[in-house]
Amino acid sequence: MDPAPIDSESWMEVRDGQFYCAPADVYVDPMEPSPRAVITHGHADHARKGHGTVWATPETMAIMDTRYYISDDTVRVPLRYGERHDLGGGVTLWFASAGHILGSAQAVFEYQGQRIVAAGDFKRHPDPTCAAFEVVPCDVFITEATFALPVFQHPPLEQEVEKLMRSMRTLPDRTHIVGVYALGKCQRVMKTLRLAGYEHPFYLHGALKRLTELYESYGQDFGDWQLVSEIPRKDRDLFRGKIVLCPPAQINDRWSRRFADPLPTVASGWMQIRARARQKRAELGLVVSDHADWNDLLRTCRETQAKTVWITHGRVEALEYALKKEGINAKGLHLIGMEEEIGE
Ligand SMILES: [Zn+2]
Ligand SMILES: [Zn+2]
Repeated sequence: MDPAPIDSESWMEVRDGQFYCAPADVYVDPMEPSPRAVITHGHADHARKGHGTVWATPETMAIMDTRYYISDDTVRVPLRYGERHDLGGGVTLWFASAGHILGSAQAVFEYQGQRIVAAGDFKRHPDPTCAAFEVVPCDVFITEATFALPVFQHPPLEQEVEKLMRSMRTLPDRTHIVGVYALGKCQRVMKTLRLAGYEHPFYLHGALKRLTELYESYGQDFGDWQLVSEIPRKDRDLFRGKIVLCPPAQINDRWSRRFADPLPTVASGWMQIRARARQKRAELGLVVSDHADWNDLLRTCRETQAKTVWITHGRVEALEYALKKEGINAKGLHLIGMEEEIGE
């Protein structure tokens, strides 16, 4: 990239705790209802309700619809990956895939020869349920830092799924109850289990139904699945040796007592930390993350060739320090409202 002709902070700033692009008068993933909002993806700490005009990918728009985040008077501007849009004020917006969940996008802003990329949440590991992360060269890269410590090295998902398959072979009478977030994690785990050869129907908690159907409407195939609530209580033995999926809070809840010999399992990036697994009372922890790990965060910042990196939330200091050592102008911001527990 050529030397920046203008100061990037003169057109992209943190206002009310979120990124605000002044010449286009838009916020990125605003927490509060905003007249003009660019939304990177459908997780609840990024997509909120009550905005006037929403720019998002068609998939993110559909997710927001499913969760009632878009009302009748919301103006929708769906943009497919790579489709350029004039935001006004001389600013062009386009979305690049972020590899995080279905429809997840990096918001690319261009103004007076400069390019700023707000990556939202992203990952580099393969995910059969969404488009792969695309590296976009830029002047300023805005990244999260949820897993920005050298200890976080996410294993291949196949390896973690094999752990689950092995446990089911060893303990064929137990019901493996896997706690997964409803948006993204659930579908990625189901798909990977299918690719690993799991052939039984999946049994789903009702909270996972609508978003799984939404993924199916975008061409994803999870094979046969059924709602737990549709199985009569007296048939509890049917679940032995099978996989039940539910939100993480339910694995040790009253709800899980209906199953024969439940084996509480949690699929989350935090399962790398023993204390977290204990805290969740998981008997089996699968390290499954939809965020970039330490190496991928560093690699991504380098590959964008950005001279400046702004770090929104998470282990901000660790990433800031490591990038500065490489001569990158890194700046930690600690934005509010970004929750590390959602969809990690
Ligand atoms: Zn997310
Ligand atoms: Zn997030």
